[in-house]
Amino acid sequence: MLPNKIDIRTLNIDQIKEAITAMGEPAFRSKQIFEWLWQKSATDFDMMTNLSLPMREKLKEQFCIRPVTIFKTQISSDRTIKNAFQLHDAHIIEGVLIPTSERMTACISSQVGCSLSCKFCATGYMDRVRNLDASEIYDQVVLLANQAKENYGIPLSNIVYMGMGEPLLNYKNTLASVEKITSPQGLGMSPSRITVSTAGIAKMIRQLGDDEVKFNLAVSLHAANDIKRNEIMPINETNTLEILSDALLHFYEKTKSRITFEYIVFDNFNDSIEDARELYNFCKKIPSKVNIIEYNPISNADFMNTGVDKLEIFKNFLERKGIIVNIRRSRGKDIDAACGQLANKQ
Ligand code: SF4
Repeated sequence: MLPNKIDIRTLNIDQIKEAITAMGEPAFRSKQIFEWLWQKSATDFDMMTNLSLPMREKLKEQFCIRPVTIFKTQISSDRTIKNAFQLHDAHIIEGVLIPTSERMTACISSQVGCSLSCKFCATGYMDRVRNLDASEIYDQVVLLANQAKENYGIPLSNIVYMGMGEPLLNYKNTLASVEKITSPQGLGMSPSRITVSTAGIAKMIRQLGDDEVKFNLAVSLHAANDIKRNEIMPINETNTLEILSDALLHFYEKTKSRITFEYIVFDNFNDSIEDARELYNFCKKIPSKVNIIEYNPISNADFMNTGVDKLEIFKNFLERKGIIVNIRRSRGKDIDAACGQLANKQ
């Protein structure tokens, strides 16, 4: 790619229209080009067969398309598929396809690395390199949707922004990618099938409320006590539980969308009845449910899953108090594809 070429997918349809009319081409071609870029995921101008050859050449002179490609794929014994995706500047990110009996879920990344340094997460031990563009987030969904059809003959049903990076620290591109995924000019998926997961960036959670987004919001909570949460999630030092809870209430008031709290129950860290009580006291303030996530130990940290009996007591305590609790078993552990394990090991 020549450095003076612009990635055409950074332009909106009006900007494409302006560019092609300046080339002397009719304005209606912009709609065709836009469809090729997003709905049909064209990776080359020569795929745009309803454009004339001279027009394709003119586009190639000014613009480029920078698709994400698959660098490596691993398939777990439980059928989970982990991909190392390569970006145009050679950076690698990871995305996972998770088939279950009810769903076909794509777990995608929003940044190269992450700046938040959560102590239980493999990505947290990497540096944040850069944000992904909206097209780089979108391409992961397209590639995983293709894998879902090719490997399992089932279309994608859900998308979770739970891979590498903090999506709300890449706010503009995260929202732009959701817009493309949900738009009829893109993949036409319902926003109710999309969940954006955050470590708890209060200011941007408020912004999501002000923007009245239609997708689901999940918060990686993992402790409902500031001292413990500071210990495992340094973001809590500036975004305390009180600040977080105010932001979530604001989000709920604006969107009427119930929050999902993700909670990993670590052995001898946050698995006591007192911890469950603190979690209940935090949750009861906000319309919400709790997903208890099975932990996958990583080499950088000493955390372990709590025992089965303690987990049952913890869950029962919350349920008796009227909290909706789901237990999410890990998938793809044998290929380091499970929650918190994405770290570009290849
Ligand atoms: S859990 Fe999420 S926010 Fe925390 S370090 Fe990992 S990728 Fe970043």
